[in-house]
Amino acid sequence: MSKIVIVGAGVVGLAAAYELGKRGHSVTLLEKDEYGQGPSHGNAALVTGVLSFPVPAPGTIPVAAKSLLKSGQAITLVPRFSPAYVTFLLRMAAATRSRAFAVGTMAQDILTVKVLESFDEYVADGLKFEMHERGSMHVFDNEAEYTAAMKVFEPFESIRSRVIGLDSAAAVHEVDPAIAPEISYGYYAKTDRQVEPDSLMAALVAAIKAQGAELVEHAGVISFVKTAGKVSAVVSTAGVYEADEVIIAAGVGSRPLAAMLGYSLPQYSGGGYSVDIHYGDPEVGPHTSVLTSASHIAVTPLDWGLRTSSGMLIGQRAPVVKQKLIDKLLVDLKQTYPSVPYQEVQPGWAGLRPMSADGVPVIGQVPGVANAYLATGHAMLGLTYAPATAKVLAELIEAGEPLPKYALLSPQRFKLKK
Ligand SMILES: Cc1cc2nc3c(=O)[nH]c(=O)nc-3n(C[C@H](O)[C@H](O)[C@H](O)COP(=O)(O)OP(=O)(O)OC[C@H]3O[C@@H](n4cnc5c(N)ncnc54)[C@H](O)[C@@H]3O)c2cc1C
Repeated sequence: MSKIVIVGAGVVGLAAAYELGKRGHSVTLLEKDEYGQGPSHGNAALVTGVLSFPVPAPGTIPVAAKSLLKSGQAITLVPRFSPAYVTFLLRMAAATRSRAFAVGTMAQDILTVKVLESFDEYVADGLKFEMHERGSMHVFDNEAEYTAAMKVFEPFESIRSRVIGLDSAAAVHEVDPAIAPEISYGYYAKTDRQVEPDSLMAALVAAIKAQGAELVEHAGVISFVKTAGKVSAVVSTAGVYEADEVIIAAGVGSRPLAAMLGYSLPQYSGGGYSVDIHYGDPEVGPHTSVLTSASHIAVTPLDWGLRTSSGMLIGQRAPVVKQKLIDKLLVDLKQTYPSVPYQEVQPGWAGLRPMSADGVPVIGQVPGVANAYLATGHAMLGLTYAPATAKVLAELIEAGEPLPKYALLSPQRFKLKK
C-alpha cells in the first residue's frame, strides 16, 4: 500500500483518488480552491465511448490561422509571446499531419475502449450520479461536409463500425425529432452517454471520503521536496504532505507544477464556454447529444433542460465569460433547436481545458522523476476519460515502471519526437 498525494481535485484527480483508494492505497488530494470548480464543472456533459479523434486534425491549422484574422472559427489562437508557446504551436501543427493524427487517434482509443465499462463499474459500485444513455449525433449542413466527415473514418475501421451514417432528413429526425427540420446529414454514436459532471464529482467525493481518503481544499501546491531523485513530500499552502507517489492532475495548472520537477510539459489551455437552459418538458429539447459542424456547438440534454457549449481558444489565460460569444452561442442553439422554450436561460460560464500539444492526454511518469506522474491534457474529453485515466494510472503506479501498452499516452512521447 502506497501513500499517494494527488494534486488537483477536478474530475481527473477525483477519479484517480477513487480508483487508488479502491485498490487499498492511502490517498490525500490537495486542491488549491474547492473541488470541481474548473472546466470539470461546466463542460458539455458528453461521454463518448466511440470517438477518439484528437483536436489537432488535418486541416486544423489553416482554420486556426484564419482565427487570427477572423472570428467564429472552430479553433482560435490567442497570441502569446513566449518561446514555449511558439514551440507548443509548432508541435500542434506537426500533430495535424495525417500520420501523427492517426497515432494520436490510436493513443486516445486506448482510453476510449475503456470508457463505457469504467462508468458501468461506477454504477455497479453504487455511485449515484446523473447518467443517460441517449447517444450523440454529429450533424452537417450539406452532403459535401457529411461525405468529408465520413472520409475521416476511412483509416479507422474499428471506430467507423461504432457509428451509423445518417444521409437523409428522415434518418436524422428519427434520432432526434426536435432538431431543426432542414438538418439532413449526420452520424450517430448510439452508445454515447450524458453524465452531469457535478453529480459525478459529488458521488466521487462521497466515495473517497468513505474510503478514508483526505480531500484538503484551499491547499495550493507550491513546491516539491526531492530526495535522491524522487519526490518525498509535497509542499502546499495548507501544510507539507509526505508521499511515496505523487500525481499531478491539476488541469491547466499542471504545466507550472511539472516545471517545478524540471519537466517542460507542452500543454496550454483551450478555453471554452457553456450556457444552461432550464425547461420542464424533455420532449421539446434534444433527444440526444448533438455536435454541429457549421456552428461548432455541442448540445446535451440533462434532467433540468439542456447545456450548450462552444469555443476552443488556444492559449487563453483566464476563463472569461464574453457575452458576445454567449449571445452567438444562443443564436446558433436556437437555429438548431427552434422549439425549445428559451425563458430560463442561465448566466454563461467559461472554463480552460488542459490541451497538450498533440491533443492527446498525458498520463505517465514525469521524465526523470520515478515516483511522480502526470494525468492531464484531456482537452475536450476529460469527463469522458477520467475513470479510464484512473485505471491506467493505477496500473502504472502498481507496476512501478513504464508499461509499453501505455507508451502513446506517456509524457516520454514528446521527448521521442524531438
Ligand atoms: C466548454 C467545455 C466543454 C467540455 N465538454 C466536455 C464534454 O462534453 N465531455 C468531456 O469528456 N469533456 C469535456 N470538456 C473537457 C473537460 O471538462 C476537461 O478535460 C476536464 O474537466 C479536465 O479535468 P481535470 O481534472 O484535468 O482539470 P480541472 O477540472 O481543471 O481540475 C484541476 C484542478 O487542479 C487544481 N489545481 C491547479 N493547480 C493547483 C495547485 N498548484 N495546487 C492544488 N490544486 C491545483 C485546480 O484548482 C482544479 O480544481 C469540456 C471542457 C470545456 C471547457
